[in-house]
Amino acid sequence: MSGRISSALELKGNRIACTKCGEDLGPAENGWKSGAIMKERPMNNAGGVSYRSRDHVLLRLFFCPGCGKQLGTETAMKDDPYLEDILKAG
Ligand SMILES: [Zn+2]
Repeated sequence: MSGRISSALELKGNRIACTKCGEDLGPAENGWKSGAIMKERPMNNAGGVSYRSRDHVLLRLFFCPGCGKQLGTETAMKDDPYLEDILKAG
């Protein structure tokens, strides 16, 4: 099994890799975010949009540990687990 997951991620066998540098981001079944560098920012600093009543909402940015390419983002509540993009067979 192989192929593009997104512009930044591709599947190689059962591993997920960066499309830019080929960095291995871990087994597909675990999701790729645990293999990426994650930075959190409060949403009230993102895009000039005010989320004053929702300071606990975070924007998470994920970067390749090999080349620094941004792999993806998600919004999450503080202390939430990652929203894993688990690949489901079939
Ligand atoms: Zn990379």
